[in-house]
Amino acid sequence: MKLVFEKSVPQRRAIRIDDSDVPTTININSDFLRETSAELPELSELDVIRHFTALSRMNFGVDTNFYPLGSCTMKYNPKVAERIASYPGFAHLHPLLPQLRMGGMLTQGALQVIYEMDIFLREITGMAGFTMQPMAGAHGELTGIMIMAAYHRSKGNKKTTVLVPDSAHGTNPASAAIAGYKVVQVPSDDNGVMDVNAVKKMVNDEVAGLMLTCPNTLGLFNPHIKEICDLIHSVDGLAYYDGANLNAIVGKARPGDFGFDIVHLNLHKTFATPHGGGGPGSGPVGVKENLVDFLPVSIVIKRDDGTYALEYDRPKSIGYIAPFYGNFAIVLRAYVYILMLGKEGLKEVAENAVLNANYIRAKLCRHYKVAFDRVCKHECVLSPSDEMLENGVHAIDVAKALIDMGFHPPTVYFPTIVKEAMMIEPTETESKETIDAFIEAMIEIAEIAKTKPEKLRESPKTTPVSRPDETAAAKNLDIAFLE
Ligand SMILES: *Cc1c(COP(=O)(O)O)cnc(C)c1O
Repeated sequence: MKLVFEKSVPQRRAIRIDDSDVPTTININSDFLRETSAELPELSELDVIRHFTALSRMNFGVDTNFYPLGSCTMKYNPKVAERIASYPGFAHLHPLLPQLRMGGMLTQGALQVIYEMDIFLREITGMAGFTMQPMAGAHGELTGIMIMAAYHRSKGNKKTTVLVPDSAHGTNPASAAIAGYKVVQVPSDDNGVMDVNAVKKMVNDEVAGLMLTCPNTLGLFNPHIKEICDLIHSVDGLAYYDGANLNAIVGKARPGDFGFDIVHLNLHKTFATPHGGGGPGSGPVGVKENLVDFLPVSIVIKRDDGTYALEYDRPKSIGYIAPFYGNFAIVLRAYVYILMLGKEGLKEVAENAVLNANYIRAKLCRHYKVAFDRVCKHECVLSPSDEMLENGVHAIDVAKALIDMGFHPPTVYFPTIVKEAMMIEPTETESKETIDAFIEAMIEIAEIAKTKPEKLRESPKTTPVSRPDETAAAKNLDIAFLE
């Protein structure tokens, strides 16, 4: 059977081309041929532009509104980083280009970025070497735990468990479990941080290591962090630092100095670069000197002649964890961000992020319950007051009402150890005016909860889709997209 190209493109919209050289018949096995013609959209450029412009206006993002989504560090992404990431010399690189000779002219710059990023991140974290390959924080966690497992294998250690705090991000226990470890949960103490006395009781020869973010998901710094790392080391375990909250301490303190052996960073959180809705991300993993040999292949090295190259000859490596070099464009944006801010600028990031979070906590503590009412780091966790709850107003209602007032809701119902949690992370990039407007909206919601609580349960009213039945939607994803 022969496929005959139809020449029935509407002349009104089609651009006439000289198709005299185009063959009109080709032989394709009839099994592969469709029986009816494809319903391809026939649209003018204007229709397409209007469609996508309308879609882009439905977008809610950091460039349009305040986005205090706790633990996600949704900071503003400077456009200069976007600009440089779109330079053709970077954006058009193909990962299979050769590193040296002819192709080297094209790839040496990119390799230099990865090489120097490694140096920056070592300095920022106190680690001895990094891989840029992991595609996100969770991917970094898995890479890190695989390195932990490789370490124990190399020493003949028979270890079975990984300790994780009860306030942990869900990816921590998931990563440890995927790597084959049993996850043991460590309780928090009365101050909302990992209980050092519980760790004392729980460390034994079975313990391969610990996973911890510090400050934790309550925005609280653990004053016993060094002691906890020492306890883990006392049984030849390794301490893993989940760097998602690095924004709170970047430039001020280093996880390597606390005693951590392995860290991942979320470049898409701490070092700007746009993210949300699942990507794009980059989760470099750094390790102390004794673990460098286990890092994934490949690593960028600098040769004696000053050229950069990818090194694959790493016999102890855990192997490949991603194709090519990770999300290079995200690494590049973070590289620009770090160079732009410099050492002093990075310190100010942490200082202002912490100041903004405490400003919100101090202003809202009379209207909402504060889980642990003391100085926090980059985020604070609030809950509706008892009066609000008695009136049937829950964290989800506050979140939905905020949408109607032009704010992205905070992270809600996480961390799970706080009932009705609303985790608010303003970041350092917001102005006092924006933060004040958010505070005012939160106070207004608390007031409405006293007088007209039913109004809050009807939110959101300004979105194309109204509030779905949350329980039903969790069980049946189609419901979430009705209307
Ligand atoms: C975001 C986050 C992660 C996971 O990082 P991804 O880049 O989203 O995979 C892990 N831990 C904490 C505390 C986080 O906030």
